[in-house]
Amino acid sequence: MMTGCRTSTEAAAAASLLRIDLDAVAANYQLLSRRLATAACGAAVKADAYGIGACRVARRLARAGCRVFFVATLDEAVALRAEVADTGVDIAVLCGALPGTESVLAEHRLIPVINDPGQIARWRRAGERAGVPLDAMLHVDTGMNRLGLSPRETNRLAEDPELLGGVNWRCLVSHLACADDPDDPENTVQLDRVRAVRARLPAMPVSLANSAGILLGPDWHFDLARPGIALYGGGPQSGRKNPMHRVVTLLGRILQVRDIEPGMRVGYGGDYQACSPGRVATVAAGYADGYLRSSAGCARVHLGRIALPVVGRVSMDLITVDVTEAPEAAVFPGALVELLGGRNTIDDAAAAAGTISYEILTSLGRRYHREYLEDAAAG
Ligand SMILES: *Cc1c(COP(=O)(O)O)cnc(C)c1O
Repeated sequence: MMTGCRTSTEAAAAASLLRIDLDAVAANYQLLSRRLATAACGAAVKADAYGIGACRVARRLARAGCRVFFVATLDEAVALRAEVADTGVDIAVLCGALPGTESVLAEHRLIPVINDPGQIARWRRAGERAGVPLDAMLHVDTGMNRLGLSPRETNRLAEDPELLGGVNWRCLVSHLACADDPDDPENTVQLDRVRAVRARLPAMPVSLANSAGILLGPDWHFDLARPGIALYGGGPQSGRKNPMHRVVTLLGRILQVRDIEPGMRVGYGGDYQACSPGRVATVAAGYADGYLRSSAGCARVHLGRIALPVVGRVSMDLITVDVTEAPEAAVFPGALVELLGGRNTIDDAAAAAGTISYEILTSLGRRYHREYLEDAAAG
């Protein structure tokens, strides 16, 4: 067990199991790094590494060579710094430096991704107080209109670069809005804007690509990439083959199996009504575990190769599965069915629930017994 990372210690007999393959995360990191050639590969570990476990992921990726981790909030950054203090990695805070947080950021050696001119001025003053210019990244908006300096503000900096003085600029950051669709013309529009901004500001490395941006090709790579979903096994580009290794396997525990006669209804509201004799298994996972209610009627679970439909509504703690097609001997209280895995990927589950793999992962509940797979010797 890795020191410093919180883990669940005992497999509660009735709980479902969430297996997280940290070596697969590292393999995905290597795969992306090879695509990047000369650009460095960072990692987005915000939202507890998309629900996978930021501490475990960051430590594994640090061993694989990752030097820059991106989180969303200051709290996430402070927590991660405590876990990886010994590894000397950089932690960048995508939400920026809110007024009043400068001393906490500096104390924990965090790198704010600065998104407005007021933050630049305050971060310079924080550096003056510290006696040394502090590290920061400069977030410029190139079309997403979410975070980052507006074109007008960026223009102002280009006209008066002194405004950038007194801060140690590590990187120019921008974020792609449409990279999951390689054919979207917005990808080139944003690329051109990034190039134009880079040409007008003092020289600093550039970071543009998220997971999907890496797959767009070398023009989008610049100096540092910030993949998230691809590290965790999600297909970065919608409608294209997913080249990433699977990270997450979710095994649901069967609690009870019952025979169902034609006309019998299952679950809240009786939404499902059997039209022939069969069997239904009740499995220990529900919407409180992130098994999304919206997947009712579309989701499948697997027993070996056999796909079994989830029937009726998703409850808080339970789903009900039509196991009529499964071998009787394989379906009993205590047996496990695959809720997420090779045959039912996070992308499949997302499609069934009408969402994206990001939401499937970040919803993964805290009640699952978590098992982290990791070869201690692997680099
Ligand atoms: C979340 C995030 C990323 C990672 O995006 P993925 O699509 O998961 O690769 C990169 N950059 C920023 C600014 C983000 O908010």
